[in-house]
Formats: sequence, C-alpha cells, structure tokens
Amino acid sequence: MKWHWYLIIENCTGCGICRDVCTEHAIKMSSKMAYPEPISGKCTGCLNCVSECPFDAITVTQLKEEQLN
Ligand code: SF4
Ligand code: SF4
Repeated sequence: MKWHWYLIIENCTGCGICRDVCTEHAIKMSSKMAYPEPISGKCTGCLNCVSECPFDAITVTQLKEEQLN
C-alpha cells in the first residue's frame, strides 16, 4: 500500500516534531527550506505525524491504484 504525504505549508512552523515521531524515518527536514519532506516509499501510513503535528499541517492519504504509476 502506498501513501501520499502532503504538507500544508502555510500551517507549518518547521518545528521538526513530525520527523522525530516517525518511526519509519520517512520524513527529513530540508536544510534549504526548513520544512519537512517525505522520503519516497518509506511512509507506512501510521498517521503518527498527522496526530502529533501541533499545527494540523500534514495530511496522509492512501494512493489509489490509478495514481501509482
Ligand atoms: S510537526 Fe507540523 S509544524 Fe512541525 S515541522 Fe512537522 S508539519 Fe511542520
Ligand atoms: S504517516 Fe507514519 S510512517 Fe508516514 S510519515 Fe507519518 S509518521 Fe512516518
């Protein structure tokens, strides 16, 4: 199963909590932008980052079959 990780950038403060709570190490902080970025293929859809982000800046949704290619 593949997951689409999406940042609502205007809500994000760059605090890094999402990276720290991701047990799959699926989020990295971009050094240039100081915003989190997903690392392709690592997200398992556990939603830890969604629930722990204090600013509701992350959505994670399951990719549909037609979106996989
Ligand atoms: S926890 Fe939320 S506010 Fe903090 S860096 Fe992650 S997305 Fe941005
Ligand atoms: S949903 Fe889970 S696995 Fe995916 S980026 Fe967030 S914390 Fe990591």
